[in-house]
Amino acid sequence: MSELARRIHELAQEITAACHRAGRDPAEIKLVAVSKNFEPDIIQEAYQLGLQVLGENRAQELKRKKPQLPEDIEWHLIGTLQRNKVKDVIGEVALIHSVDSLQLAQEISKQAQKKGIEVNILLQVNIAKEASKHGFAYVEVLEAIKEICLLSGIKIRGLMTVAPIAPEPELVRPVFRQLKELSCTIERLAIPGVEMQELSMGMSDDFAVAIEEGATLLRIGSRIFGHRTYI
Ligand SMILES: *Cc1c(COP(=O)(O)O)cnc(C)c1O
Repeated sequence: MSELARRIHELAQEITAACHRAGRDPAEIKLVAVSKNFEPDIIQEAYQLGLQVLGENRAQELKRKKPQLPEDIEWHLIGTLQRNKVKDVIGEVALIHSVDSLQLAQEISKQAQKKGIEVNILLQVNIAKEASKHGFAYVEVLEAIKEICLLSGIKIRGLMTVAPIAPEPELVRPVFRQLKELSCTIERLAIPGVEMQELSMGMSDDFAVAIEEGATLLRIGSRIFGHRTYI
């Protein structure tokens, strides 16, 4: 078994184990393999090992790599998106995890209408209020949703967060729990056109806790592809 195959196999086992602990069905959870900074040859290998949902954090990198890889890969954009890159990305990805401002949502809506498509998005929430991270503050999310749900060509599917770096995954549990609570609160409001089906949370070091707290999308890079030489 190759190193990559071994890592993917171990990760799958840990995901299944966390699902069992949480009493969840592994079929509810989608693994987004974060391939940023890795080249198409290794991504191709991962695809052949069964990973067909891939996440990139930069529009330019996605644009460069996507044509070199199989067409049935489902691409997700997980990183900060600049407004001037929106037209390069929409239509190319199944989901944008990282909508972090009303202005970005407005630009997505504008470009989506030009192309005659509907774009699936998640709202990124900066639960831990880290200055270094993007995202809506917890208290801003509801107001943003009420505006964004009125825009054409854009569909809110759920929420996303990036937890702080922590020495112990257990320490970020409250962050995941708050995102889940926020999602439940919004769901109860039954805002027309707003779905809260997806919770994108959990990365290489904290995915097990994220599963226990209700994640539906895991964004995992280094546990699959190895350490990146740069961010
Ligand atoms: C890089 C990245 C990940 C994956 O991080 P790992 O720790 O390598 O699993 C997940 N989410 C976002 C937004 C990222 O930029």
